Amino acid sequence: MADDSRSTLTLAQLQQKRIRQVLLLSLGGMVASCLHNLLVSNWPSVIALGVGLALLLWALWDMGQGRHVRATTVMLMTLTVMITTLIWIAQGVRDPALLAYPAILVFASLLGNRRLFLGLLATMIVAVAVVVTANIQGWHLNAPRPVRVGTFIDISLILAVTGATAWLLAGDLRRALAQLQQENARVVESQTHIEYLASHDALTGLPNRVLARSRFDQLVAQSRRDDHHVAMLYLDLDNFKSVNDSLGHLAGDDLLREVSQRLVAAVRGADVVCRLGGDEFLIVVGEARDSDAASAIACKLLDQLARPLQLDGLEVSVTTSIGVALFPEDGQDFDTLMKKADMAMYRAKDAGRNAFRFFDAAMNESVIEHLHLVSGMRQALQRGEFQLHYQPQFDLAAGTVSGAEALIRWQHPELGLIPPARFIPVAEKSGLIIEIGAWVLEEACRQTMCWQRDGLGDLTISVNLSPVQFRRDNVERLVLNALQASGLPANRLELELTESLLIEDSEHLSALLGRLRAVGVSFSIDDFGTGYSNLSYLKRFEVERLKIDQSFIRRLTEDTQDEAIVRAIIQMAGSLKLDTVAEGVEDADTLARILELGCHHGQGFYWSPALPAAQFDAFVRSRQPAASAATDRVAMAGDA
Ligand code: C2E
Ligand code: CA
Ligand code: CA
Repeated sequence: MADDSRSTLTLAQLQQKRIRQVLLLSLGGMVASCLHNLLVSNWPSVIALGVGLALLLWALWDMGQGRHVRATTVMLMTLTVMITTLIWIAQGVRDPALLAYPAILVFASLLGNRRLFLGLLATMIVAVAVVVTANIQGWHLNAPRPVRVGTFIDISLILAVTGATAWLLAGDLRRALAQLQQENARVVESQTHIEYLASHDALTGLPNRVLARSRFDQLVAQSRRDDHHVAMLYLDLDNFKSVNDSLGHLAGDDLLREVSQRLVAAVRGADVVCRLGGDEFLIVVGEARDSDAASAIACKLLDQLARPLQLDGLEVSVTTSIGVALFPEDGQDFDTLMKKADMAMYRAKDAGRNAFRFFDAAMNESVIEHLHLVSGMRQALQRGEFQLHYQPQFDLAAGTVSGAEALIRWQHPELGLIPPARFIPVAEKSGLIIEIGAWVLEEACRQTMCWQRDGLGDLTISVNLSPVQFRRDNVERLVLNALQASGLPANRLELELTESLLIEDSEHLSALLGRLRAVGVSFSIDDFGTGYSNLSYLKRFEVERLKIDQSFIRRLTEDTQDEAIVRAIIQMAGSLKLDTVAEGVEDADTLARILELGCHHGQGFYWSPALPAAQFDAFVRSRQPAASAATDRVAMAGDA
């Protein structure tokens, strides 16, 4: 209780309280001394003490009026002058009253100001000097008095008053110090807490980017000394969003905490696991010997995270994509390495997720190119920078142009002609292939219908479809619209699909293809032979044609293994009643060989590259009418 009331006093109030107490104690002491001197009829002392008492009462009254500084000054000066007077009239420097000087100085130092303290100190020294000089010179002699009981009373009074006041003031000092210490501890504690919050992630307790950066700098300094590498691994959970959406945010938080624990357990204590935010983590590994060591860590992390975990009583698995960048090869500073590790992480995502990838320079260029291409492609559609070229396809038996494959070209205003191999993958990644693909389909159908009206014959147009287009649900609508808008009969349209699309084995896809087939549209498998060894999808998805990949055709006459593959494909197609197209036929020998093997159709530079519409028109007209003998046809075609 007492402590409480004390602590609620302000410093000034406490000081006033102490001054009043010191005043009262001094008054008490002086009254006692005065009485004692009265008893022994020591009149000079009684007078001195009486005057002192009056002055102290005045100081007490001053205190009551709120004039604290003056009261303190009056009190301490009164005490000093009174003690000096007592010394002068009594035993001089041998008088026990001298004991009070140091006590007065202590009060002055604690309760008064510096001027008062120095003034009193000077007064005392001067007083002692005067008394000593007067005694030495014999102007005034202070004869020592015999020791009596009164001596004891005087000394005890001085000690009692001094002791009590010193105790009070020292208590204040002790408490103030203790309080200060407590305050200090609190400040240090809250500072540590603030530092922790500023450098850690609140959800997982992992270091955040700020701390990771400083730890990275330490690890780099160390690895410079030891000639080691520092690996930076950028992790992104593959399916966090679906967990969060389906099980709720609390489960999502649990998942992130569990992932954090696994990551921490998977690396060494000196390495840093940091949460960048969301489902992204950064791991900085010091003292990595080489890229193999970094690979080993990435593998370990993938393993650890792939283990299923319990969330809300459900078993959930998450996978992760990791990008790795190395100091010093890929960069010298934290930001550069993090950016590169991030890029590499996207590569890992592209590679099908649950994987890791190292950063390399080509990746950097491709990302920059990617950004330019994406923005360029958006405008290209509006500005009409895309064109379709048509590569003739030949019916080998009849020797006639049976159709064409529509191949897109991008006439870029600055970069010139950009081949589709460069921009189609980017369009697929950015989703722009949807709009581009729709345009290709409409334009190809429109052009083919024009040719048909112009009497170019019943040509079949082959249009490449990207698997990305099938992930949108509107392929069917797109195809039907293009046919309807152009008026092209559906059986003049062939769609080229990739093996990767068919391998996904979706009921949805086979139903979709079935519906389009019912309308009359046909399908071929592009680049056949490069993708998968399991051909069971050929039975599930009834396609009409296989386009044998150029890589086999190109080496057909030189490589017996390639010949064996092409032969096998043609035989298998025969038994499945599928048509075959040899792509990339570049010379007469190859043509002769595919004819021999029983291939039905061909396409390649041997006849013609892909041509702009007008040139294609001219090309077809120059071929009509076709010769009748197959051998002649081959010879004729070769002349082209
Ligand atoms: P692809 O579907 O395999 O197209 C055949 C590619 O081989 C074409 O390249 C063509 O010009 C080339 N080629 C044809 N005959 C020969 C030959 O005898 N020798 C050699 N060396 N090459 C030959 P292009 O036009 O550069 O197209 C490359 C790829 O871009 C295409 O491969 C296709 O995957 C994609 N692509 C082109 N146009 C489109 C499109 O409109 N949509 C989609 N989704 N992809 C397209
Ligand atoms: Ca194709
Ligand atoms: Ca092809």
